[in-house]
Amino acid sequence: PDLAALDARVTGCRACPRLVEWREEAARTKRSAFREWDYWGRPVPGFGPADAALVITGLAPAAHGANRTGRMFTGDRSGDVLYAALYALGLASQPTATRPGDGLELYGVRVTAPVRCAPPANRPSVGERDTCRPWLERELRLLRPTARAVVALGGFGWLAALPALEAAGWTVPRPRPAFGHGAQVELPAAEPGAPVRLFGCYHVSQRNVFTGLLTPEMLRTVLGAAARAAGL
Ligand code: SF4
Repeated sequence: PDLAALDARVTGCRACPRLVEWREEAARTKRSAFREWDYWGRPVPGFGPADAALVITGLAPAAHGANRTGRMFTGDRSGDVLYAALYALGLASQPTATRPGDGLELYGVRVTAPVRCAPPANRPSVGERDTCRPWLERELRLLRPTARAVVALGGFGWLAALPALEAAGWTVPRPRPAFGHGAQVELPAAEPGAPVRLFGCYHVSQRNVFTGLLTPEMLRTVLGAAARAAGL
């Protein structure tokens, strides 16, 4: 199976009843500003080339962001901040992400999430996280030949990424490394292949950006370090 096939398969997943209901309810009711939109309303696949060297993994799609557009981190404030930073670093073709077909391309970067359906209050349960993990595991395994660095956005993204990275063929040390903004840990290959360097970064949530916990400069610094580690 290749990444395109995996992306197509995940969009049909209905394994989490609460999230299926929430994503479809948001697609039915819509936010008034997006009344004209035909919401995606399904699981959102990763976005970016199949031979990416840098993987950025967030939390989950936003009900009126990626759950509307069908493309990860597209159509919400988090995406505005993330793609602006990637563009500033020469890793994206444009600083904004409005909708599929807007011309956005990523260079050597794949953007994904450990949970693929929009959760209520942007908060998936631990059970939902664990149910969705195999999708990220499979994606990371397919990216393994080229992936050299991973950025986990937020503590949840970090905690969800560790077991997925382990299942995809890298070794996670014990005790498990703790999340922190700017944290870095080298994960040796558990199978023939290259190690990967994991970076922690505060999530690009509207709240973190609004409160100044994460500034655009802080984001660029971590992404830039990860891009260098990935050879980009
Ligand atoms: Fe399937 Fe993941 Fe969506 Fe649950 S969150 S329904 S496992 S795609």
